[in-house]
Amino acid sequence: MIMIDNFIFQNKKAVYYTLGCKLNFAETSTLGKYLSEQGIQKAGAGEKADICIVNTCSVTELADKKCRQAIRRIKKQHPDAFMIVTGCYTQLKPEEVRQMEGVDLILEKDLTKFVPSCSQDDRTRHFLKVQDGCDYYCTYCTIPFARGRSRNGKIEDLVQMAETAGKEGGKEIVLTGVNIGDFGKTTGETFFDLIQALDKAESIERFRISSIEPNLLTDKILEFVAHSQRFAPHFHIPLQAGSNEVLKLMHRKYTTEFFQSKLEKIKTILPNAFIGVDVIVGMRGETPAYFEDAKRFLEALPFSQLHVFSYSERPGTMALKIEPVVSPKEKQERSKQLLELSDRKLKEFYRSQAGTTHQVLFEHTKRGDKMHGFTENYVKVEADYSTGWINKLTTITLNNFDEETNCYRHS
Ligand code: SF4
Repeated sequence: MIMIDNFIFQNKKAVYYTLGCKLNFAETSTLGKYLSEQGIQKAGAGEKADICIVNTCSVTELADKKCRQAIRRIKKQHPDAFMIVTGCYTQLKPEEVRQMEGVDLILEKDLTKFVPSCSQDDRTRHFLKVQDGCDYYCTYCTIPFARGRSRNGKIEDLVQMAETAGKEGGKEIVLTGVNIGDFGKTTGETFFDLIQALDKAESIERFRISSIEPNLLTDKILEFVAHSQRFAPHFHIPLQAGSNEVLKLMHRKYTTEFFQSKLEKIKTILPNAFIGVDVIVGMRGETPAYFEDAKRFLEALPFSQLHVFSYSERPGTMALKIEPVVSPKEKQERSKQLLELSDRKLKEFYRSQAGTTHQVLFEHTKRGDKMHGFTENYVKVEADYSTGWINKLTTITLNNFDEETNCYRHS
């Protein structure tokens, strides 16, 4: 039984609300599991909760704002509930959260401990948290302040968690963390050791490596994925800026030339691999000329999709000293241009897959009379809803690309 200032938590109903990254979702799920073992059940739809737990994100100023809005909205929906707020926003601005009306308790984490977690999302995937924190201190980023230094779980324990998820019906696991390529700081192991060990977890059909820093995505890892039956040819690599001058301002650890050679290497050994790339637009110091350089660089880069983020001013970061500042209007315009480029590249990648055969893992969500799934190389496929296909790997040849919705239709 948990008690806080005479508030008895046993036999209560809770609602959970998570903002931000996959790591946060994995952590909320672990907290939910723990509380349900203590007798606190999840409140059903429309049911009034006794406890509300909001797991926050603070990656941008907008994220902070969304957290405040969520806290207010949830408090309105559950006016008598005990409101607990946790996550990056509370780590970075505890006083701001504490002073919000309706917040009863904020939970701050011990940033030296690693708490493993494996959670299922509302689709069919599981997220296995293998690492937390970051030692890089890029000039625009507050994550190291919110999540602490790089640390990780033991390979043996993580393989065990993956096997358990598989035995409980999980087919696909996404490896998550803040800087997963930096895995091993606490245990003396390496990320390469980890993927080799996971590859032997027979109850899991498919692993995806989520976002990994380009300098840590070694050729050894790429060769391994190319020969693995379980690791999907799907990469998500943060570039952040397509100009060497801006990369320097950001304190990133590679050049555009290095990044390009990495992507070319992927395409040589895994020609059908899906490559997602993160880019920030409007970083302080990104002059119009640097942005034009970035656009030219990106045009020639063999990626499949861009994830475009607008630079956001974060208190306490070194980037605040950099000039000039890019106006919100200009950021919007740059973002629009890169999103157009991303759409073009995504369509090109999808077209290049016509006629190829893949294993599609269909998800349970029903949209109208349709269901969706992804191939190992992250191509979205739509099919008529069939309960027999949910959470099963189905062999499908891609032959009907819908340019409107960016997905292949299977009939
Ligand atoms: S590597 Fe990622 S998490 Fe670490 S400081 Fe840089 S942007 Fe932030």
